[in-house]
Formats: sequence, C-alpha cells, structure tokens
Amino acid sequence: MRYDVAVIGGGVIGCAIARELSRYRLRAIVIERECEVGLGTSKANSGIIHAGHHGAEGTLKGELEWRGNQMWDALADDLHFGFKRVGDLTCAFDEDQRVTLRQIMEQGQRRGVPGLELWGPERIRREEPHLSHDIVEALYAPTAGVVNPYEACFMLAESAVRNGVDLALEHTVRNIRRSEKGFDIEVVVGVTAHDAGVGRAVDAAAVVDETATELIKARFVVDAAGLHADAIADMVDAGGFRIRARKGEEYLLDKRLVGYVKRVVFPCPTPTSKGILVIPTYDGTLMVGPTATWADKDDLTTTAEGSAEVFEGARKLAPGISEKDCIAEFAGLRAVSDTEEFILGPSRVAGFVLAAGMQSPALTAAPAVATVVLDALRDDGLELVAKDDFEPGVPAPVRFAELSTAEQRSLVARDPAYARLVCRCEIVTEGEVRDAIDRGARTLDGIKFRTRAGMGRCQGGFCTWGCMELLQERLGIPLTAVTKRGGDSYVAIPRLEGAA
Ligand SMILES: Cc1cc2nc3c(=O)[nH]c(=O)nc-3n(C[C@H](O)[C@H](O)[C@H](O)COP(=O)(O)OP(=O)(O)OC[C@H]3O[C@@H](n4cnc5c(N)ncnc54)[C@H](O)[C@@H]3O)c2cc1C
Repeated sequence: MRYDVAVIGGGVIGCAIARELSRYRLRAIVIERECEVGLGTSKANSGIIHAGHHGAEGTLKGELEWRGNQMWDALADDLHFGFKRVGDLTCAFDEDQRVTLRQIMEQGQRRGVPGLELWGPERIRREEPHLSHDIVEALYAPTAGVVNPYEACFMLAESAVRNGVDLALEHTVRNIRRSEKGFDIEVVVGVTAHDAGVGRAVDAAAVVDETATELIKARFVVDAAGLHADAIADMVDAGGFRIRARKGEEYLLDKRLVGYVKRVVFPCPTPTSKGILVIPTYDGTLMVGPTATWADKDDLTTTAEGSAEVFEGARKLAPGISEKDCIAEFAGLRAVSDTEEFILGPSRVAGFVLAAGMQSPALTAAPAVATVVLDALRDDGLELVAKDDFEPGVPAPVRFAELSTAEQRSLVARDPAYARLVCRCEIVTEGEVRDAIDRGARTLDGIKFRTRAGMGRCQGGFCTWGCMELLQERLGIPLTAVTKRGGDSYVAIPRLEGAA
C-alpha cells in the first residue's frame, strides 16, 4: 500500500486535513485505531466554535482560532452537520474583571473580530433573563458558534472518502521507520482495548484482538494522533515533546432547560483557564462544564468533585441550574503540550509534519490547522495539483423530526422505514438509523452521534435494542458483536452453555 500522504489519527484534525488533501491529485490515507472516526477527544468536548477574541495575541492558538472560526459556515453548508452562530457572553462580576473584558475586546478588535459589544446589567437582563444579577458587565461576541463536533468529523471524513481518500479503521500504528522514499508505517489491524461497557481506550498501541499486521508506505506522514502524537513522533525521532492529558468533565441537562440560556456564557477568564461555562448545545440542550485537572491518558471518569465544581461554577452564572437536571455526563481529555501551544508544521524529520498539542481551541481552529499542514507538506516537496472533479458537498442526511408534516408524509409514502420510530425521546426513525449505518456507523455511539437516537431523556433505555437489531441486520453481525463504541465495549454477552 503506497501513498503520497498518510494521516495518523481520525479526529477532527485528521479528518479536516484529509478533506483538504482530497482537493488534490494525490493518494492519501487516514489511519485510525478506532472503528469510527471522531471517537477520541473530538467527540467529548464543549462543541464551541470560539468567537476569535479570547486567544492571546502572538500565539498560534489565538491566530488559528479566529482563522478557523471564519471557515465553519462554508463547511457546514457543504457538509450538513449541525452548526449555528449563537454568540457568547463573557461575564464580569467586579471592577478588575471589567478591565479584563476591555482587554479581551481590544485584543479581538485588533484581530478583526466584528460585532464585539459591552453590555450593562439592563441589556444582560433583557437578553438573558436567567443569568445572575451579580454580573455587572458582559462582553458580547456574535461570532461564537456551537457545532455537533462528532457530526463534523463524520462528514469531513465522508467528504474526504467520496473524493478519493482511503480510510483505514481499526488500524493502530505500532511503529514507523524512515525509508528511502519516505516512511514505512507498521500497523496492527484489529480492535483496540476498552473497559467493556465503559468505553475507555487503554493506550496508543493496545490491541486486544489482532487479526493482521500491514505495512503502509507513504512519502509524507502527518501526525494527528491527539493524546498519542508524542509517541507517534518519537517513532521516527521527530518529537522531543510530551503530551499530557488534562481532563474536562461535562454535564448535560434535561430538555426542560432548552432556551434557558441562549448564548454560550463564560466567566471572566484567568490566565490559565476559561472556567466553567454554560453552553446551549447545537440541539438546544444545555451543557455545563468543563473542569480542568491533570489525568492519565485513559481516564475518562466523571467524579463527585468534578460535578460539584461544575454545578457551583454554572450556578454562579445562572443560579437556576441544578444537579437534579443532569441527564448525562462525560469527560474528554485535552492533549496538552509542554508549552501549552499547538505544535504545528514541519518537524526535524523531512516529510513528517506535526499537528500535535491540539487542545482547545483546536476544534474551532481545525479547518485552519488543515491549511497550515498542507502548506507545510507543500514546503516539504509535496506537489499539490488541484483536481477538476473535487466535489465539496455530501448528501444531507434525513432529519425526520425537523421535516414538515407534508414532507414526513411524502417520505413515509416512499419508504415506510421512516414511519417506524426507533427513538421516542428524540423522534428518530428506523430509516434514519439505517441510513446512518449505511454511511459508516458501526457502533451504538456511531448511531447516536449521527441521529441522536439514545441522546434523549431515557438515554437509550428504549432505543438501544432497536439500534442493536439494525446493526445486526445491516452489518451481518451477531448481536453479541455489537459494541457501544468499538473495542471490547460489548453490550450483550453470549448465553453460557447450560444456563437457564
Ligand atoms: C472537555 C473538553 C472541551 C473542549 N471544548 C472545546 C471547544 O468548545 N472548542 C474547541 O475549539 N475545542 C475544544 N476542545 C478541544 C478539542 O476537542 C480538541 O482540540 C480536538 O478535538 C482535538 O482533535 P484531534 O483530532 O487532535 O484529537 P482526537 O480527536 O483525540 O483524535 C486523535 C485520533 O488519533 C487516534 N490515534 C491515537 N493513536 C493512534 C495510533 N497509534 N494509531 C492510529 N490512530 C491513533 C485516536 O484514536 C484519535 O481518534 C475541548 C477539549 C476537551 C477535552
């Protein structure tokens, strides 16, 4: 298997790079150890497209946040993932914080972020009546948005594949050697280890069910392996940096609170943290978080302390928020470099390009990061000849619940699978689940993140079985092979012989 470019890691960064590469006449492959793209940090985050004014001047994080921010509208138009600009408010509770708000506003204005405004208490109360009356001033930024990050990954990858990029899933890079013509990448094919039912990835090279090894040859390699980008770079001595994991716990609230807060709400940031936020997700549900604590690279647990910190922080901004409204919780792991900055561009090894240390705001920055990586590849000698037949769009998925009654009727008349409800909380039909599987969903999470089946109040209590049956039928696998999120996160266990 010979490629011009191999991208290691199918998170939002790897998928954005792959789609960018697919514009050109070259052979590219994305190598991802999980059974679907986007199952790493890219699915477990706050889903904010940051407004562009927060990131410090003179840093890659700051500059690429703003460049990336401006690229999301066109991407969402082409790829039909959930994205909308809801705006954000950064809140000051005292005079010192008001000074900080002004500094952030001026920083944003120097960068060209439009529409920044300072709101006094009256305006805040009018626009966001549920926010704390202790807020003395807020900086409003209309350019902030929210995105369904996992959908963005799926669609970026789908677009790349439709335009000719290969996607090697359940392929774990175990070693890389430099060769005369580039790099020999040794991959293990098979499922990665997880704690059954919980979905914790163990480490970069832990494969529990190894079926084969393969050699993938590539002239250029892009290291977009998230938490394991340091280990990948060390394989060819292109690294010399360490990536540590900083965990963020997030808590999703009941639909009762949809519309309670309309914009993303930040406390005034400190030099080290953006603090605990109140986030109206793309689908309208409120989310609160994240915490920021050092953790092991496989620690995706949520904790009582994390929950207490998050709800205390959230209540400071919006006092009516309560733990009682929590319907789901999760943790994500930021891939933090020694300098806290992105490590992006050429490495000390020719042809080996880095996209490491991709902590927040790397989701926001992802489309801009992809263009920086392509520039680095070009500088290293990759010829980028544009394809005439690059197709920017992908077909829009059906969202039955969002259709008018007339549209629903006509769809059902054409295909009765859209008349059978699989998820009652989120109104998701069999037709949508089937389509999701046909477009790449391999797990219950893959279905959930494409269709919302399982995201509602009962958290999959009703629809899990229906989704499992459809996975069994469409993929031709036994029910006992269905997993929550790949690896060995099986949902059903085979009946033991002789058991009643
Ligand atoms: C709690 C939290 C909240 C956040 N909120 C925001 C936000 O609101 N806005 C924002 O802009 N950013 C946010 N971020 C940051 C953002 O989520 C990340 O920067 C982004 O998802 C990083 O993407 P990635 O592709 O680099 O990493 P990942 O998504 O982790 O992708 C890396 C991929 O590499 C694969 N991989 C690793 N090792 C190997 C191997 N040996 N072989 C093959 N594949 C391998 C992994 O399986 C993984 O899929 C947040 C992060 C956290 C943790």
